Amino acid sequence: MNNLSKNYINGQWVDWSGDTIDVHEGTNGEVIAKVPSSDRAAMEQAIDAADAAFDSWSETPLEKRIDVIKQLHAGLKERAPEIAKVVAREVGMPIKLAGMIQAGMPIKVTETYLDMLPDYPFTEQSGNSEVQYAPVGVVGCITPWNYPLHQVILKVVPALAAGCTIVLKPSEVSPQSAFILAEILDGTDLPKGVFNMVCGLGQEVGDTLIKHPKVRMVSFTGSTRTGHLIAHAAADDFKRIALEMGGKSASIILPDADLEASVKGSFMNCLQNSGQTCTALTRLLVHKDQHDQACEIAGAIANGVKLGDPLDENTRLGPLASADQRDKVRGYIKLGIEEGATLVAGGAEAPEGLENGYFVKPTVFGNVDPNSRIAQEEIFGPVLCVIPYETEEEAIRIANGTAYGLSGAVFSGDQDKAKKVAGKMRTGQVFVNGGAFNPLAPFGGFGHSGIGREFGKWGLEEFLEVRSLQL
Ligand code: NAD
Repeated sequence: MNNLSKNYINGQWVDWSGDTIDVHEGTNGEVIAKVPSSDRAAMEQAIDAADAAFDSWSETPLEKRIDVIKQLHAGLKERAPEIAKVVAREVGMPIKLAGMIQAGMPIKVTETYLDMLPDYPFTEQSGNSEVQYAPVGVVGCITPWNYPLHQVILKVVPALAAGCTIVLKPSEVSPQSAFILAEILDGTDLPKGVFNMVCGLGQEVGDTLIKHPKVRMVSFTGSTRTGHLIAHAAADDFKRIALEMGGKSASIILPDADLEASVKGSFMNCLQNSGQTCTALTRLLVHKDQHDQACEIAGAIANGVKLGDPLDENTRLGPLASADQRDKVRGYIKLGIEEGATLVAGGAEAPEGLENGYFVKPTVFGNVDPNSRIAQEEIFGPVLCVIPYETEEEAIRIANGTAYGLSGAVFSGDQDKAKKVAGKMRTGQVFVNGGAFNPLAPFGGFGHSGIGREFGKWGLEEFLEVRSLQL
């Protein structure tokens, strides 16, 4: 990567000589890169470039747009090892998993669009009308740090396919994979101005992007707090928004489920990426008679996980992405103790021998009050809340009893019963008896978890306006 000190605007790497932002390695807190803390003028330049490129790109035949996405796909494959490594160092995901998820999912998602696009009906007949699906315009993409390239690809690929032009504002915490993406796109046949990337702080360049009149849509993934600001800003000139935000997802283990396997499946999901996953199953709902046994199983897992440098093949759990996030999560662990939950494993102090980096002990709380703050607020770290319930109805009520609704899980010995309970969960996806993640299924949230859907045709349609020709 030669361009970390630059922005990518109008098909060129543009030098930035102002302030920079330090990018840290979670294992030791060292600075591993410096990227532009760009100003509003740089963002405006990028928006103007995207606006100027829109008419031509929106009329470019689909086959040509698909060709560019094919070139992007090849580039992502070629640079996958590098992507896995930079994200592992920035975010803390163990390298093998980072290869499969942080580098692998962007490739997989791009493939699903390459499969789907040739047959996607960009026009259809309805009575005497031809219904046309037209690109929404200039799109501002704003992304978080936890799955940095994956979140970007979920926006950039369908937006390009739709015929939109793009200004990306990647996370300032883990920006390097976005630079790799920009380098890949720079080597494709994409016309200048169609994709632009400006690096910087949310309150500066992000703010310019969400308020600029030439930007007709903001596609955002990140915290509910920032999503709220974006929804307000978008209301002023009726921008379209797609918001993928936080979660506090519940796993309901029904009494007839295999307890050991269900607790393990749920907790491993919660620990993925050190708990820095929007869909993490952070609330484990178990029948009160099975509560202590479930805590024992989860506690043993927490105590047995090997923490360490994500680049070490033996590491199962890496650090968090930043000192701020580490301190926030440790603060929640202290809060859980103050709130009276039972600390089964883990705790707020640094893991032994890992005092320098952004590590947090995998932590299990038992007997958690479903209305307490640790059960209601997104912690975004390796912290599990075990909550006892008495009846199935109560379990569903607790599961639905937060402002969020992003993901969930149900485990039961009876698949039909599990499906029935899943159908009552107010959430965008539910894993039934450990069903596999499917990149063709729509993904998004109810309530404070989001507006809109990503993946597959649902993800593409976010970037399309509908026009009827009455014939
Ligand atoms: P964040 O909201 O702090 O930041 C996300 C992005 O928004 C960053 O690029 C940031 O610079 C930008 N931003 C911040 N303030 C802004 C402002 N005033 N105007 C415009 N842009 C601004 O989120 P984060 O801490 O990077 O990510 C963690 C959050 O993301 C968690 O809540 C997690 O659940 C959520 N997330 C959701 C999904 C999903 O698909 N639902 C996926 C991943 C992460």
